Amino acid sequence: MNEINNQKSTAKKKILFICGDLQQMSTICELLNEDYDMTCTENKDKGKRLLSEHYNDFSAVLIGAEIASADDHSFLKSIQRKSKFRLLPILIVSSGEFLEKEIDCLKYDTADFIAPPYYRKIIENRIENAIRCRDSASFYEMEKMLKELPQNIYIKDEEGKYIFATHTWHHYEHGNDPNWTIRGKTDVDIRKDKENAVLAMKKDMEILRTGRGEDYVIQIPNEIGSEYYEVVKRPLRDDNGNIVGIIGILHDITEHELLKQRLKSAASIDGLTGLYNRSEIQSYIETELIRVRECGKNLSLIMLDIDNFKQVNDNYGHKEGDVVITALAKLLKSKQTAFEKRFSAGRWGGEEFMLLLYDTGIFDAARIAEQIRQSFANTFFGNVKPQTVSLGVTQARIDDTLDTLCIRVDSGLYKAKKSGKNCVVVI
Ligand code: GH3
Ligand code: MG
Ligand code: MG
Repeated sequence: MNEINNQKSTAKKKILFICGDLQQMSTICELLNEDYDMTCTENKDKGKRLLSEHYNDFSAVLIGAEIASADDHSFLKSIQRKSKFRLLPILIVSSGEFLEKEIDCLKYDTADFIAPPYYRKIIENRIENAIRCRDSASFYEMEKMLKELPQNIYIKDEEGKYIFATHTWHHYEHGNDPNWTIRGKTDVDIRKDKENAVLAMKKDMEILRTGRGEDYVIQIPNEIGSEYYEVVKRPLRDDNGNIVGIIGILHDITEHELLKQRLKSAASIDGLTGLYNRSEIQSYIETELIRVRECGKNLSLIMLDIDNFKQVNDNYGHKEGDVVITALAKLLKSKQTAFEKRFSAGRWGGEEFMLLLYDTGIFDAARIAEQIRQSFANTFFGNVKPQTVSLGVTQARIDDTLDTLCIRVDSGLYKAKKSGKNCVVVI
């Protein structure tokens, strides 16, 4: 029993009551004792000390009007100056005769004024209202603090309309109107990047419908490229668990994203030619083989190798050799759009290249190989005399693996070399 009582008493809100009038003090305390944990003092200095040392313990402070207004409200002024008391509501308790200086107490950031006749319920409601008001004031304090962060933190209502946002960036359309507010606006109302605005609203509707959060990255084009933002959104719920809105955060990850792209490209692109490297083209082949097996798609490979390339290096030097390799890569890149068929080109190693031709049968592949052979034979390099390539061509079969397919196209190339080079062998 004792324990339960104790628990109940610790759950009570603590009120500090500083009042010079003992009669008034006991009247108020009698009324409030049941619902609040009252700490009362008639001594102004003790009250000040209690407040200063235990301000975090108290939910509200009641101050007798006499003390509050004495010495030109010096007590109130001393409290008002200190930011640590900002979240603590102060209510003035008058004994009955209002004088101007008593009413003036309201000017010193006090929350309310209580005067006789004292009704318990009225005083309690005024105290609770004051506490609530201070709590909501702290929301604005919080908003002010959140604005210091670079991320845009926002809240939307149950229709996906903004309630507030800490930042309104350049992609929001509001000109310089000082009276502009984001409140009540949707993303489509205010954003220039309409595609992302529509996406944001779709995601919002999904969150409101399912109660599941969404994390995604958006790309916003700008004059010099793109900005990337990570969006993290979660549903907001009331005390009964009903979804009442969305809280979101928009975080600029442009630097991180560009670095990621550079790393990805470094891992998959050959440095000299800008074509895919061997492991990347291998993984493309593996993916496409699945489509061959499962969807019956056509897929062909062309493997090509510069003829007598050692002599180029020997006769003109390694640097000039690089020029020839780069020229062939450039030719392959330019051909990617010149033919009706789509293909990916990769550097297989040294002066050897692999082409992966999507949705392409063996006849088209052979035709493309022949065009490449001719184009390369007619390419001029400046210092180095024109060179030739040999090419092997094959079409993927339903039971091919990466190995069997590559071995077959390689043997086509080998045969082309054996048959005098500068030719295409279909296998
Ligand atoms: P084949 O007609 O039989 O292909 O004869 P080849 O001389 O072209 O063949 P081989 O494979 O014997 O020689 C290829 C040469 O390519 C050997 C190597 O030094 C050179 N090479 C490999 N990678 C590079 C590169 O990145 N730059 C330059 N300049 N040379 C390279
Ligand atoms: Mg060679
Ligand atoms: Mg070679």
